[in-house]
Amino acid sequence: MTQTKVNELKNYVGGRWMEAKTDKTAPVYNPATGETIANVPISTQEDVEHAIQAAHKAFETWKDVAVPKRSRILFKYQQLLVANWEELAKLITIENGKSYTEAYGEVQRGIENVEFAAGAPSLMMGEQLPSIATDLESGVYRYPIGVIAGITPFNFPMMVPCWMFPMAIATGNTFVMKPSERTPLLANRLAELLEEAGLPAGVFNIVHGAHDVVNGLLDHKQVAAISFVGSQPVAEYVYKRGTDNLKRVQALAGAKNHSIVLRDANLENASTQIMNAAFGSAGERCMAASVVAVEESVADAFIARLTQKANEIKIGNGLDEGVFLGPVIREQHKERTLNYIETGEKEGAKLIRDGRKDEAVKQKGYFVGPTIFDYVTSEMNIWKEEIFAPVLSIARVNDLDDAIALTNQSRFANGACIFTRDGGKVRQFRETIDAGMLGVNIGVPAPMAFFPFSGWKDSFYGDLHANGKDGLQFYTRKKVITTKWI
Ligand code: NAD
Repeated sequence: MTQTKVNELKNYVGGRWMEAKTDKTAPVYNPATGETIANVPISTQEDVEHAIQAAHKAFETWKDVAVPKRSRILFKYQQLLVANWEELAKLITIENGKSYTEAYGEVQRGIENVEFAAGAPSLMMGEQLPSIATDLESGVYRYPIGVIAGITPFNFPMMVPCWMFPMAIATGNTFVMKPSERTPLLANRLAELLEEAGLPAGVFNIVHGAHDVVNGLLDHKQVAAISFVGSQPVAEYVYKRGTDNLKRVQALAGAKNHSIVLRDANLENASTQIMNAAFGSAGERCMAASVVAVEESVADAFIARLTQKANEIKIGNGLDEGVFLGPVIREQHKERTLNYIETGEKEGAKLIRDGRKDEAVKQKGYFVGPTIFDYVTSEMNIWKEEIFAPVLSIARVNDLDDAIALTNQSRFANGACIFTRDGGKVRQFRETIDAGMLGVNIGVPAPMAFFPFSGWKDSFYGDLHANGKDGLQFYTRKKVITTKWI
């Protein structure tokens, strides 16, 4: 879409659109065209302070609003999201670059989180034991914790915020969100729709910006908890600084997801699933397939199918019909990816599909074609590091034991998948693999809203994961009352 008028984004504080107290802005690009589509303010500590004060004030009344009444606002919100589905998906494609189909699916994932959070009256129920001793009973009651801050990445502008604020506000908290400065537009639309759904002023706030805003949230005494999703170094930093300030923190971090293809796998399914998982959303998914450990005896057959499917991918602007692979997020990210391809060659991996040679790479947007390396080993940087782009590494292994040993060497442990029809091997995989989210014969095992979402090792810092009952617990605290009836 060509946008002639650049949109100067505002913060959303206390139910009002406010200019940030700064002259500093950053351009927001459409990665498919390189055009500037908006300027985002790089807000200051003063802006953070205003937003936290608004959220803190709103908490005083919002926490006491009856839970079904809070839920009803989310029901209305769900209807509005459904009514605006196409517009939201289009906005995601414009600011993030992923294909419209992927963006449409992302909106669905966001809506599912709202639907789950709208069940707050059941979720928030406590537990009672009427006779802990003679005439003595105990019960647990659940309460919100206060002002929550959410810090989100560029790759899922709708789904990741929806992991956080619907549950946080349904359970009676108020929320300050710091969206990615690379994809800030969708966040503002989410706020407009929340207002239309009848959410009282101050319950949901947005402060745009970068690390100064994050630090302001991490250090502020009135922020009770931090939900973070982003890259590993920043997640580690956020977790350490937030917990040092005695806050609850959940920090979902980077990934390097492994798929294991065994000799009895349905190779047609495995190659389709892995092609989608590696190259969908331009590989910019925390659940993207980055490494395939394939049993030597089927490696050639698997790779032939995969390469053929990669060759059929249509690359281009995600709004165009039939496009599967859009651009990566920024010019610098494209350069970084091209450097990784060079690194892989220097490290001795065999480049069997070179995404630098696709026509689209010469276009104005930040395109990189699907890239596949064979004979990758765990000593190579392309095996160790998160590339976060359409670059897939294949490692040949002798058997499942080898594949699991290889996978478990990774410092990351977000997702892992196995392709096989052997139940015993699935069990061995489930019991011995280090990863938080597993898939059997599927490529992207991202759990739905009602299950917890998160990895192990350096893919996650914290205790309670995002979503599901973990999310509910993260955003609430309990009181236990013991009563003697005399
Ligand atoms: P990022 O770490 O660059 O940014 C995430 C957020 O942190 C942004 O809001 C950004 O403004 C802020 N930030 C960046 N640098 C900072 C700093 N030095 N100090 C304070 N705040 C800072 O991540 P990204 O590039 O936007 O997102 C991609 C990353 O997110 C990938 O590593 C991906 O694996 C990860 N991710 C993980 C999950 C998961 O569930 N584990 C989900 C989605 C994305």
